[in-house]
Amino acid sequence: MKTIDLRSDTVTRPGEAMRRAMAEAEVGDDVFGDDPTVIRLEALAAEMLGKEAALFASSGTQTNLLALLTHCGRADEYLVGQKAHTYLYEGGGGAALGGIQPQPIENEADGTLDLAKVERLIKPDDFHFARTRLLCLENTFYGRVLPLDYLGRARKLVDRHSLQLHLDGARFFNAAVESSHSATEIAAPFDSISICLSKGLGAPVGSLLIGDADFIKEAKRWRKCVGGGMRQSGILAAAGIYVLENHIDRLEEDHENAQSLAEGLASIDGVKVNSNAAHTNMVFVDFPEGRLSGLSDHLEKNGILVLADYNPVRLVTHLDVDADGIDKTVAAVKEFLG
Ligand SMILES: *Cc1c(COP(=O)(O)O)cnc(C)c1O
Repeated sequence: MKTIDLRSDTVTRPGEAMRRAMAEAEVGDDVFGDDPTVIRLEALAAEMLGKEAALFASSGTQTNLLALLTHCGRADEYLVGQKAHTYLYEGGGGAALGGIQPQPIENEADGTLDLAKVERLIKPDDFHFARTRLLCLENTFYGRVLPLDYLGRARKLVDRHSLQLHLDGARFFNAAVESSHSATEIAAPFDSISICLSKGLGAPVGSLLIGDADFIKEAKRWRKCVGGGMRQSGILAAAGIYVLENHIDRLEEDHENAQSLAEGLASIDGVKVNSNAAHTNMVFVDFPEGRLSGLSDHLEKNGILVLADYNPVRLVTHLDVDADGIDKTVAAVKEFLG
């Protein structure tokens, strides 16, 4: 029985063609700067987003950390959503390693930050305060695509106050595919962008930090400093190239599968799908309280994995879940609650 794993889009396994690309990758020593496959991946990513340069790193936590360390110094501050991954789920790395203070701001229901609120929280030039240097946004945000005009307004705001603008784009291409705007348009307002290759794109490891050449040069110093310099990393970069060339357009399928999962679950008594729809490849669902652990045990017996410790339960589609898996999931939920 094939497992239907809806816990995250990080669970995908590399298929045969990707493994072949990895096995056949030409490699060098990337710390010496002569791994041709890493060089090719970085050039490809920079070009796709319309920026000058890119840096391959081990994880999205690391690329976001490198962005913080590069944009901000000790006792500087960055503005960030209260529910943002960078603030909430990255171990406080900016504080631990950079002495950088976050200023969290409550996210609006659609995932945006109220820019008037953001502007009020930029600190005046007065030694009582940390120096505000950076605004961090996240797109997609819990599956939601941020509107392009909002990104443009955020750019204007940071320009008025001489701040930098970073994007945690762990699922950047889900946003691009869903929004019909090009990758370069969505990237344009930002000074730096972090992209995960190992989420819906399906690579086993790796993230990219993308920006202008001077920024990436400085970020590369920090990558070495945090122990992130890798050697024959062309083996991993080959998977990155493979997914950028083959797995972007197909994200559409994940979004369709998530939508049919949302519709199927919404038709079951006692199940409430948040905002009545999927957000790109994610569905957030409230199941009857008190039945959550029973439900996840029942699903597991049917080969379906979910993380259902509390409501809302997040279900995530990806390239290892097909339409048949979605039908089986809806049927198993119906069987348990019916
Ligand atoms: C997964 C993720 C990251 C980075 O996570 P890693 O597991 O360190 O690669 C960053 N931001 C968001 C929104 C994410 O979902």
